[in-house]
Amino acid sequence: MSEMTPQTPRAPHHPRARAEIDLGALRANVRALRGRVGPGVRLMAVVKADAYGHGAVPCARAALEAGAHWLGTATPQEALALRAAGIDAPLLCWLWTPGDPWREAIEAGIDIGVSGLWALTEVTAAARAAGRPARVQLKADTGLGRNGCQPADWPALVAEALRAQGDGLLRVTGIWSHLARADEPGDPSITAQVDVFRDMLAYAEKAGVEPEVRHLANSPAALTVPGAHFDLVRTGIAMYGVSPSPELGTAADFGLRPVMRLSGSVALVKGVPAGHGVSYGHHYVTERETTLGLVPLGYADGVPRHASGRGPVLVGGKVRTVAGRIAMDQFVVDLSGDTVEPGAQAVLFGAGDEGEPTAEDWARAADTIAYEIVTRIGSRVPRVHLHEASGMESGTSSGADGTG
Ligand SMILES: *Cc1c(COP(=O)(O)O)cnc(C)c1O
Repeated sequence: MSEMTPQTPRAPHHPRARAEIDLGALRANVRALRGRVGPGVRLMAVVKADAYGHGAVPCARAALEAGAHWLGTATPQEALALRAAGIDAPLLCWLWTPGDPWREAIEAGIDIGVSGLWALTEVTAAARAAGRPARVQLKADTGLGRNGCQPADWPALVAEALRAQGDGLLRVTGIWSHLARADEPGDPSITAQVDVFRDMLAYAEKAGVEPEVRHLANSPAALTVPGAHFDLVRTGIAMYGVSPSPELGTAADFGLRPVMRLSGSVALVKGVPAGHGVSYGHHYVTERETTLGLVPLGYADGVPRHASGRGPVLVGGKVRTVAGRIAMDQFVVDLSGDTVEPGAQAVLFGAGDEGEPTAEDWARAADTIAYEIVTRIGSRVPRVHLHEASGMESGTSSGADGTG
């Protein structure tokens, strides 16, 4: 579907839609998290998936400015993009598949997460080709059952890594693992995983590994499980000011402020009679004569179609509900007889302090987690990074692709 209006150049502050990214809030969140974990524990800013949709490069820079020591990404492409942008902080990358750019990662000084023998084979071959040792962090599966090395296979992985280290092909810089249920306070699997981690760590250290960093905690564990902090915590969602789960508390409970604010410019306001169907399938029918507002954002922009008939939007000073289906590019809200000017802001989510909904509200409306709400905002929505330089109050646009 195409928009009905021709694309004319516009001032950057009146776009169809935009996601403002408050880097000042991100910095404050990093400082709050550092305060929470104590002075001996370092922070890894997880900026995978374009910093959960917030823009990897500006977010990585802001996090480092605020005292994060490490960066973390899933894919090697994400890690290499940070290096290409001139970011030289310690950087761990953990999701590798055969044929990945091992050699480039080694040459870029990227720490490589290794969960299995096949990866050691590829990494040592690349280290030979590069003529320098790889930095390898061995990942243990302490119970998550996803990536990571099972306890039964751990002795072989540790032995092989130490052999390659003896040959000068790599250095084991870290031992780490990931939690399955840290967002469920008090779940017994959390302490069970901490215990297994201690055992697997002790085994590796006894065998001769001298890791620079040992780490287990994601955001929920960084916020609520001090016994899982070890040398560093890997925080993603909390850094973006979003609570890992409603069970744990709100972002404000942890002194965190939402970083992303998603809004659109109302594209049309019109009166309709009672009994008028709205949007595909006519799942909403007006009860009485009313006014409708058209919001030019849809599932192509990452607004979840599953929130049709439920998603909350602040328009004209009141929170309205999506009327009927969310389409690819647009949806409708019932303004209950109110009118707003075309171009008025419709705020889907933000920090919440101006009455707008939060990403957590959208997660509830779409039956999902707030991680998915912010991360899936599409590339068609320009990210506007505010407070890019620390201390500066003016905003700058980072362009329409949302990536750094
Ligand atoms: C995504 C991810 C994290 C960050 O998780 P949050 O809950 O967002 O803090 C940490 N570690 C690993 C291995 C991850 O994949």
